[in-house]
Amino acid sequence: MKPAPFSYHRPETLAEAVGTLGAFGDEARVLAGGQSLVPVMALRLGRFGHIVDLGQVGALRYVRDDGGSIAVGAMTTHAAAGRDPLAAGSVPLLARAIPFIGHFQIRNRGTVGGSCAHADPAAEIPAVAVTLDAEMEAAGPERTRRIPAAEFFASTYTTTLEPDEVLTSLRFPVWQGRTGFAIREFARRSGDFALAGALCAVTLDADCRIERAAIGLLGLGAVPVRAFQAEQAITGTAPGDLDMTEIGLLTVADTDPPDDVHATSAYRRRVGAAMAAQALAAAVAEALAGTDVTQEAAHG
Ligand code: FAD
Repeated sequence: MKPAPFSYHRPETLAEAVGTLGAFGDEARVLAGGQSLVPVMALRLGRFGHIVDLGQVGALRYVRDDGGSIAVGAMTTHAAAGRDPLAAGSVPLLARAIPFIGHFQIRNRGTVGGSCAHADPAAEIPAVAVTLDAEMEAAGPERTRRIPAAEFFASTYTTTLEPDEVLTSLRFPVWQGRTGFAIREFARRSGDFALAGALCAVTLDADCRIERAAIGLLGLGAVPVRAFQAEQAITGTAPGDLDMTEIGLLTVADTDPPDDVHATSAYRRRVGAAMAAQALAAAVAEALAGTDVTQEAAHG
């Protein structure tokens, strides 16, 4: 099918892009990599009178050290973020999540910002953002504001961005110390959106107990969610005392995903629990095997 007619705008600066969005309000949509918006338009699931293509706004493509966090420009493609050495070294969970996104053609065009603005509950980048407590930055006509990832995703395909705001960047906190990170997910075919998945980050203290833990789930609700109960349950515990199956079940205890054509709610929860158990085991194993990056830096 073909999209309904629309006017095409190609701003070269962020200010111009925000101005165009402001001028047309709900009639306008940002075009980033087009991997989700173009199918929506072509299938006439959405009709927009004005398309604001960010492709020429080069200032939104970067990965940089932001002092304690890594900032990724919204127009950075999945592929560019995934092969960036700074992102891989400082936010390993991001680099490990990206290969799960669709196929390489999608990763070459799709953007980190587009993925978050699209807000598919099974998407990987939003789940990384929620797991690591990332911050999103949005620019509007009056101001620029930062939004915690937990407040950014409102519901399926819905965010708290205003119609005249452009998502400009994401800031992923860098975890220090003896850390481990893992993502596990299950999809019917390679490249499909996952039916369910889990992401895990852990830090061990000097006594090898879990000092800090973050467990995120994708595909188990309208937005990516954190398994706070499970995080609390494992904090202070020695890895050898963890019952991974039990913790896996605890991670999905508060979830209630809907039944759909791909899977029943019960099946998604079962898969989610198994993925969480595997991700936690892998993250803990990496933290146990690794060295303390903070200590290394201190000893120069
Ligand atoms: P676009 O399609 O251009 O835009 C998507 C939406 O976000 C639009 O509403 C647009 O207006 C808005 N938007 C985009 N950028 C901004 C911005 N900076 N500020 C404000 N609003 C903005 N994703 C996964 O995570 N995992 C998968 O397994 C996966 N599999 C896929 C398989 C297929 C076959 C396809 C076609 C896509 C798949 N995707 C998957 C989606 C892919 O990751 C897209 O890249 C992503 O959803 C949208 O990014 P985009 O840059 O293409 O955004």
